[in-house]
Amino acid sequence: MTVVDQKKCDECGTCIGVCPQDAIILGKALRISSEKCTSCGICVRICPFAALSTDGGKSK
Ligand code: SF4
Ligand code: SF4
Repeated sequence: MTVVDQKKCDECGTCIGVCPQDAIILGKALRISSEKCTSCGICVRICPFAALSTDGGKSK
């Protein structure tokens, strides 16, 4: 699944709008739902702060 590096994330919200699974939730900190995320990689590519990375689904 995809994980967020909290130290890099600016909480800009850009990734939330592009996720086709609605897997990204912004609460006190950004969180990605492991149940919903399909490791498609869209959010990884658009994050302007390179805060997201995916393992390509290996951990699922
Ligand atoms: S696009 Fe990147 S910096 Fe913006 S909220 Fe998402 S993970 Fe954080
Ligand atoms: S990898 Fe795809 S499914 Fe997972 S959080 Fe990012 S955009 Fe959503």
